[in-house]
Amino acid sequence: MPVKLEYDAIVVGSGPNGLAAAITLARSGRSVLVLEARETVGGGLRSSEITLPGFIHDIGAAVHPMAAASPFFRSIDLSPYGLELVHSPAQLAHPLDDGTAVLLERSIEATAETLGPDSRSYRELMWPLVRDWEKLIEDILGPLHFPRHPLTLMRFGTLAMQSASKLVRRRFEEDRARALFGGMAAHSILPLDRFAVSSFGLVMSATAHAVGWPVIKGGSQNIADAMVQYLVSLGGEVRTGVEVRSLDELPGAKAILLDVAPRQLATIVADRLPFDYGQRLLRHRHGPGVFKMDWALEGPIPWKAPECLRAATVHVGGTFEEIAEAEGEVWKGKHPEKPLVLLAQQSLFDPSRSPEGKQVAWAYCHVPNGSTFDMSARIESQIERFAPGFRDIILARHVMNTAAMEAYNSNFVGGDIAGGVQNPIRLLVRPMGQWRAYATPLKGVYLCSSSMPPGAGVHGMCGYHAARRALREVL
Ligand SMILES: Cc1cc2nc3c(=O)[nH]c(=O)nc-3n(C[C@H](O)[C@H](O)[C@H](O)COP(=O)(O)OP(=O)(O)OC[C@H]3O[C@@H](n4cnc5c(N)ncnc54)[C@H](O)[C@@H]3O)c2cc1C
Repeated sequence: MPVKLEYDAIVVGSGPNGLAAAITLARSGRSVLVLEARETVGGGLRSSEITLPGFIHDIGAAVHPMAAASPFFRSIDLSPYGLELVHSPAQLAHPLDDGTAVLLERSIEATAETLGPDSRSYRELMWPLVRDWEKLIEDILGPLHFPRHPLTLMRFGTLAMQSASKLVRRRFEEDRARALFGGMAAHSILPLDRFAVSSFGLVMSATAHAVGWPVIKGGSQNIADAMVQYLVSLGGEVRTGVEVRSLDELPGAKAILLDVAPRQLATIVADRLPFDYGQRLLRHRHGPGVFKMDWALEGPIPWKAPECLRAATVHVGGTFEEIAEAEGEVWKGKHPEKPLVLLAQQSLFDPSRSPEGKQVAWAYCHVPNGSTFDMSARIESQIERFAPGFRDIILARHVMNTAAMEAYNSNFVGGDIAGGVQNPIRLLVRPMGQWRAYATPLKGVYLCSSSMPPGAGVHGMCGYHAARRALREVL
């Protein structure tokens, strides 16, 4: 007797990729059910009062250039569901020991002007990328495919294939431009002297100029909540508090899309997978983890360089050499004395995040995968170095080591928030070196998390592409 199918598709996990997959399917008229293990939706997009009442902190993602750039997010309007992007006047600040800061402004020109002898070189590096941005992002935010804009991609590729160390040596003379690029390239969570790590620095910098680095009014949770409301308006259903442990627990459906880490897929699908494939899932390589801190503050951070107060995001790590050393140490299994701290000060631009006059701050640094070392003193010392008096304005702090990260979201294996090592080549085909990205050996079962191309970040493109494949193949 044929099994009765209750839904066209079931999505396991409500991170940005799970929700993007569900929306893509629902927009094509398919019935969709989303199942989420936790009591709230969002995965890496949750926000809540984890320090003191009235202080809203982003537990995961805080800054959203990827959402602003994403073709998926740009194809839907979430503003009727309350989503509001907040742009700070400058996109990023990078303080230095001389008491000044490099500011990455929306305008290339204004940014270049402050880079002294490197201003021309910065302009020449950024201008073609930002000019061709729309073409580039289409090709970058997808799985391996024949590029739609091969010339543009080739031009980008010749720059992007270099290590960040090589690029700054060749292009920049002084610390200011070098440090700025180092902070951007460190978003790769790779050593800066690795092949192709420049690609991350270039893409992160170009997004800042092309679309900005916004934060979300009221917290990143509002992205997930708006996505759910939109999904429901399309007829989709969402159930929270349902942890899926086996495919056998699911209602009948033609397609199942899993917003989970590869090793979790191996457990959920277990006995149905070919042995080899299951082993490859279990061997999927995870990169360093993060040590995360949130603070409720008495007031704004007392930066030595007051211009830091113009940017929602601050890279606290000093010179290129210091950042390169810190990131390199993490890859050797060490905990850097002076980590690169990626910091956001959302409430300066979004007063709804904190009680009047008070502020929140969010930060993390990279640590070895699975580390339980307490980095809070080192993170606060780095901030204090560029903002003396920071510790005196702390009202409360909340810390999460890699174990707490994984307990909070099982996709963050060993604290890895990127779904696996972000090797630029593996990003195209990962996780299993396969050409049919997103598909598994099981008909109708797809992996749609950030362990798939195009990798980490709140862009929803892994979910979007996985859903498109499911629509083509089984729906
Ligand atoms: C501290 C931190 C800072 C970050 N900063 C940024 C940033 O500023 N900007 C940015 O773009 N990105 C940032 N990221 C990365 C971003 O959050 C992730 O890349 C993104 O959330 C990945 O989305 P996803 O949908 O693939 O998975 P996730 O967001 O991890 O969602 C997966 C969901 O699936 C659920 N789930 C897992 N297993 C099951 C199961 N068996 N049954 C049911 N549900 C299940 C989980 O509970 C979770 O809700 C950050 C992440 C962290 C943690």
